Amino acid sequence: MKIRADIAELLRAGHRDNAIAQQLGACPKTVARHRAALRIPKDAPGRTSHTSLEDAWRAHTEPTDDGHLLWTGGFNSGVPTFRHRGHRHSAYLIGHGRDPQGRCQPDCGRPGCVAPAHVDDGPGRARTRNTYAAIFGSEAPR
Ligand SMILES: [Zn+2]
Repeated sequence: MKIRADIAELLRAGHRDNAIAQQLGACPKTVARHRAALRIPKDAPGRTSHTSLEDAWRAHTEPTDDGHLLWTGGFNSGVPTFRHRGHRHSAYLIGHGRDPQGRCQPDCGRPGCVAPAHVDDGPGRARTRNTYAAIFGSEAPR
């Protein structure tokens, strides 16, 4: 049989047959045949995922000696992204609890850094400027 790469990827990521079938619009029997052909054991019923969202994110990061966290994962339109349980997420989600709005770049000046404290998007940046203005009575340098 011909192995579909998308089904194989989700099987290896620990997803359940029905979830994979639903996500890819495939027949659950097709997914089950892939599982058998690839010799991937079936998960216990009710099991949802091998790793948490944060674990999946952390697997694509590499801490540096000087406190940055470099992204080693993939990008989508220049935005660091990773997959978890069949969904694509922005690396920004971790530490901020939401996807970025507008431009999202590390403020620390280290390209590719995704340390949550170093990365801010448009609204976050505006908030930082407003806080600075409230404290010092002027706009922060951009
Ligand atoms: Zn940084």
